Amino acid sequence: MNKTLRFWILTLTTFTMIAILSSSLFSSYLVTKKSLIEKSLEQNEVYALKLSKMSEEVFKAMQANLDARKPDVIEHIDNPEELTKILDQLLISGKNFNSLSVIGKDSVAIATSPNVGITGKKIESPGVKEALQKKEGIITKPYKAMTGRLLILVSTPLFDDSNTYLGMLNGTIYLQEDNFIQNILAEHFSEDGSYVFVVDEQGTLIYHPDKTRIGENVSENSAIQSILNKKNGAQEIYNTKGVHLLAGYSYIPESKWGVVSQTPYASSLQPLSGIMTKMFFYSLPFVILFFMLAYLLSEKLASPLKNLAISTMNSHLEDVSVEKLQISKWYFEAKQLTETMESYRKLQEEMVANFKDLSLTDPLTGLKNRRYSELFFAELLEQNNSFSIISIDIDHFKQVNDQFGHQTGDETLQFLASKMMSNVSEKDVCVRLGGEEFIIILPNCSLDEAYILAEKFRNEIENSVLPMNRKMTISAGVGEYKANKENVSELVNRVDEALYMAKSEGRNKTVISN
Ligand code: GH3
Ligand code: MG
Ligand code: MG
Repeated sequence: MNKTLRFWILTLTTFTMIAILSSSLFSSYLVTKKSLIEKSLEQNEVYALKLSKMSEEVFKAMQANLDARKPDVIEHIDNPEELTKILDQLLISGKNFNSLSVIGKDSVAIATSPNVGITGKKIESPGVKEALQKKEGIITKPYKAMTGRLLILVSTPLFDDSNTYLGMLNGTIYLQEDNFIQNILAEHFSEDGSYVFVVDEQGTLIYHPDKTRIGENVSENSAIQSILNKKNGAQEIYNTKGVHLLAGYSYIPESKWGVVSQTPYASSLQPLSGIMTKMFFYSLPFVILFFMLAYLLSEKLASPLKNLAISTMNSHLEDVSVEKLQISKWYFEAKQLTETMESYRKLQEEMVANFKDLSLTDPLTGLKNRRYSELFFAELLEQNNSFSIISIDIDHFKQVNDQFGHQTGDETLQFLASKMMSNVSEKDVCVRLGGEEFIIILPNCSLDEAYILAEKFRNEIENSVLPMNRKMTISAGVGEYKANKENVSELVNRVDEALYMAKSEGRNKTVISN
């Protein structure tokens, strides 16, 4: 079966809604995803920057601490016991170094705190060598010390008043043990897999939550490349294990180190599914509301056409007209269609009525024809009405035709018809049965009344002057229907007999049939 207009409206609406909903969810998805990524990159950048600032402050404080005790150290450079005391105090007050040492210009350790067993020994480590060579304040790159520890040396040179080089005051940071960097960064461990690491100016890991990786060079990482170019920023990266990460990074000018804070891409986007689900459920009431409105509107839209279709389908049933169905015409097409249908139906009705009228009318005279008379008789019998009839025939009509032609004959018939019509009342029916034979049917009319009418009419015709000064007479038979005693054709026959009698009795006469 063909689907209804309403079905198609609802289908279209549903498809439209699904399309709008999914496209808006999809665009929201993209926007939200982008903003989550941007947010995570920004957070990591801000965090890296904050950590690098903190680290820088701590560095400055550490170096200031060393510088502040330099005069004391220089003063007691030949007194290891006193030096050890000074270093002990410095270690406690500074807190940021894992160990402190004073090393002479011959690279022999004079004093240490805590005692790591190197006092009096010549120190050959790369850091000490570098400091001895440069004789200036340095922060070394990570190296393995004699003790086997991976460490960084913060060194400041010692010069006496006459600017003679005496050695160095060193602070160390043990990279793989508790140290100040870790203290600063420890709080950043996060359940979402975010973490922070620190690299030195060569891209070597100085701090990493995975301690085994400290000392590893990660300079091929694109974020590290940026740091090595002394830049701050944020970007998406893939780490050595191929994990997609959102990284923020910052360069620490004081130590020339870089801090990288990063969050796994997947955890940054973790809120996405929740947000999308919420969005879907928030839009659901609107979708339902919209669908309900569409449902109602579809009914309103489709009903005029539906009713129109029903009325067309049942147009053979008389009581299903467009007007009866009260089709609403609230939009253009429905109005036009309904009105066109209705006027078409009226036209059709008029045409049918017209044809019916024509089929029951005599075309020459405009009187009713034989078929009409049959229907009218049937109606009179059905209603049990009494009635009389007058049968009329023109006298010597043939002669009219012969003398004046058929055209004049026709005009004579028309003349007689119009006279006939003007002599009867509205309820009476004048019929041309054929040729020049007529009957007048007179409902509720007695035989006497019928006779009087027939005579009056006959007289009128007799005294009328036709075109070309002609005269004409008619003969008539009159009879009343005898209910329950005869049928209509018997009545007509006997009235015809009366008419023949009038003819035979000399014409221009009315004879009553009994
Ligand atoms: P009567 O007095 O005996 O009735 O003589 P009549 O000449 O009238 O005889 P009848 O009634 O038999 O004649 C019928 C004539 O009517 C025959 C025909 O010429 C004429 N007629 C019949 N129908 C028409 C018609 O439609 N037009 C014309 N012009 N003449 C018709
Ligand atoms: Mg005749
Ligand atoms: Mg005649």
